[in-house]
Amino acid sequence: MNDFRAKYITKPIHKWAKKALPALSQTESEALTAGEVWWEAELFSGNPDWSKLLDVKAPKLSEEEQAFFDGPCQELCGMIDDWKINQIDGDLPEEVWQFMRENKFFGMIIPKSYGGLGFSAFAHSEIVRFISTRSVAVAVTVMVPNSLGPGELLHLFGTDEQKDYWLPLLADGRELPAFGLTSAEAGSDASAMVDEGVICKGQWEGEEVLGIRLNWKKRYITLSPVCTVLGLAFKLRDPDALLGSEKDLGITCALVPTDLDGVDTGSRHLPSSTMFMNGPTTGEDVFIPIDYIIGGPEYAGKGWMMLMSALAAGRGISLPSMGCAAIAYSAHTTGAYARIREQFNLPIGKFGGVQARMGRLAADAYAMDAARHLTCAGLDEGRALSVISAIMKAHATFKMREAINDAMDVHSGKAVIDGPSNYLLPLYRAVPIGITVEGANIVTRSLIIFGQGSIRAHPHMLDNIMALQEEDQDKSLEKFDKSFWAHVGHTSMTVFRAWSRALTGGRFAPAPDAGKATHIYRQLARWSAAYALTADFAFLTLGGELKRKEMISGRMGDILSEMYILSAALKRWEDEGRQDADFPVLEYAAAAGLKRIQSSLDEVIDNLPARWAAWVLRFFTLPGAKVSGPDDRLTATCSDLIFEPSETRSRITGNLYPGASGDALDVLNQCYAKVIEMAPVMKRLREEKKTPEEALEAGLLDDAEWANLNEMKALVDKVIAVDDYSPDEFAALFGNEDNKDHQSLNKQAKVATE
Ligand SMILES: Cc1cc2nc3c(=O)[nH]c(=O)nc-3n(C[C@H](O)[C@H](O)[C@H](O)COP(=O)(O)OP(=O)(O)OC[C@H]3O[C@@H](n4cnc5c(N)ncnc54)[C@H](O)[C@@H]3O)c2cc1C
Repeated sequence: MNDFRAKYITKPIHKWAKKALPALSQTESEALTAGEVWWEAELFSGNPDWSKLLDVKAPKLSEEEQAFFDGPCQELCGMIDDWKINQIDGDLPEEVWQFMRENKFFGMIIPKSYGGLGFSAFAHSEIVRFISTRSVAVAVTVMVPNSLGPGELLHLFGTDEQKDYWLPLLADGRELPAFGLTSAEAGSDASAMVDEGVICKGQWEGEEVLGIRLNWKKRYITLSPVCTVLGLAFKLRDPDALLGSEKDLGITCALVPTDLDGVDTGSRHLPSSTMFMNGPTTGEDVFIPIDYIIGGPEYAGKGWMMLMSALAAGRGISLPSMGCAAIAYSAHTTGAYARIREQFNLPIGKFGGVQARMGRLAADAYAMDAARHLTCAGLDEGRALSVISAIMKAHATFKMREAINDAMDVHSGKAVIDGPSNYLLPLYRAVPIGITVEGANIVTRSLIIFGQGSIRAHPHMLDNIMALQEEDQDKSLEKFDKSFWAHVGHTSMTVFRAWSRALTGGRFAPAPDAGKATHIYRQLARWSAAYALTADFAFLTLGGELKRKEMISGRMGDILSEMYILSAALKRWEDEGRQDADFPVLEYAAAAGLKRIQSSLDEVIDNLPARWAAWVLRFFTLPGAKVSGPDDRLTATCSDLIFEPSETRSRITGNLYPGASGDALDVLNQCYAKVIEMAPVMKRLREEKKTPEEALEAGLLDDAEWANLNEMKALVDKVIAVDDYSPDEFAALFGNEDNKDHQSLNKQAKVATE
């Protein structure tokens, strides 16, 4: 250590920084240090090394995974009638439950050695994505045992005995798990939990053993009404010091068989009219042996660390896969419907207002699915991607909401009227579920992505913080001196990079030779430098306050997320062999993403309380011309890519469940194919200014064309039809015969008043 520098420069800064940064609670420091950073750290550095991105191996299904996808996965989807599940039965049919058990849908993440399928993150994601387009209720049922819960916690932390006993039973569904964390008091803030376990002696299988007496009242727990084992998070106390000297051990996770005395799991919630099993659970004086703590007694009080570490994979797969499914499905169905549905004698997809929505749908479907692929590739390298998982969870579901809203708007009345012919409403209803579960999006966006990302992904921030947390003053100063000056060196380089790249519009920023996409890499490198500098100024001027400035950190999280998604789109273009035809959607994703990055950065600078810092930042990062978003020509081109059949349309929206014979999606697909087939004939009729009947009479149509046109007309009528219900059907649907009477009473009243 340089003594002079340490004594006269670092020491006063160290003193100030110690005051500015409040001591971290154990929960905070566990959350901060859980998981690992990866590509987002390069984006945060201000100077991403593109080779690290391009070297990542694109994920691919193994032969065995592909066979499962083509076999049981397709078969399962064929067994599902989503309307019946949600509107009539309120549950999946017994044969679907049985099929999922027998085919180990609940054991995808359990290693083969324990009887599970041992699938990759990518296979898991592909399967959830595929099922989501058929039925959200079934997809959520598959997601939960494969996400954060007993299976994953046991796999990561369980003792050998626990793994040997539980994992084979969970793999084939003989035991069905649920995971109970949330309670009325503790939603986003798990530390507010009042559910409690007290260490005591009790009776277990006729003997007195050391164990835990549990009391809990949880809600919103998926699979709770049918689960046979509950992974329970609770606060553990040891008032009689039976386990050790500590009395308040903290959050702990244990396995609780639901057939124990005192456990109640039967009741159900109705989550957004989507009929997967979800409900409250209570426990009153339930006794479990101490060995039922996941990981055994050594893991007493380590529940929060376990949850934070395990969250990375599940959060990066389940809801992002559902979100990407919904975006691709919206693009697929909207492109087809806009081609089929005509108004003012034109397919509605020819109108600019509709194209604006479809252009965005096409680009989002491309870019978000690229981010899903990249994330799965990272997870399959064995990385615990906590920041990226948070980015994916929040942004795939935010974009899902935007995409479904666009699809609904374009379909209009067709999408509003509920019934088996409505192929959009089930996903629309699922939007708030995706937004809320596994960390509600507002808290994920405003607190977690930048809060955790800034510390973990920044090249020096975690070292600074850890140095400041050190209790021994001399050691703390020594460590801080090292990390602080490394940080100063990094910031100086970043000032230079941010300014020079801003002045030159990123023209000379480092980029791989990526053909016509090279300039997008350069642009991204430019904003990465601007971002790194802004992050440093935000730390410098706000210190620990930054945590409470959620509007600033939310926008900083958005920029990091946009950079991640756009870099994934660049990688997708490369991995897929630079498909020329897809370039417009990449260009659109870049133009829209860079514009959002710029405006978020602008707003951060506008709102920085230290005005001098805002002035300096604006000077170095935002001089000159502003980035404009996608222009109208590009938007229309992207819209056309999902309006007309093409390889691009298949690549963007492909690999979705195509619908079962005769259902609404199948009819849409058949009709789209027929409309495209008959397009040349329809063009001829338009040019001749003749209806099909007039054309037939005039000998302008042969018999085959006439038959095909009639077939097309019948399909179009089916696609644009919506469901209606006779009074009897309506009453049956709601299980209430009174409905019918009210309706006829109203009719009689109307006649009487007339
Ligand atoms: C269908 C469904 C299934 C679920 N499944 C499970 C399950 O299987 N197991 C389980 O344990 N839980 C489950 N949950 C619970 C879910 O994880 C919680 O609903 C979620 O964590 C949010 O808690 P809350 O609803 O109480 O919202 P609250 O915590 O009350 O939050 C309300 C709003 O305030 C925001 N907010 C809160 N704190 C902050 C902050 N510091 N900064 C910014 N914004 C903040 C939130 O983002 C949210 O928008 C499920 C929930 C639903 C709806």
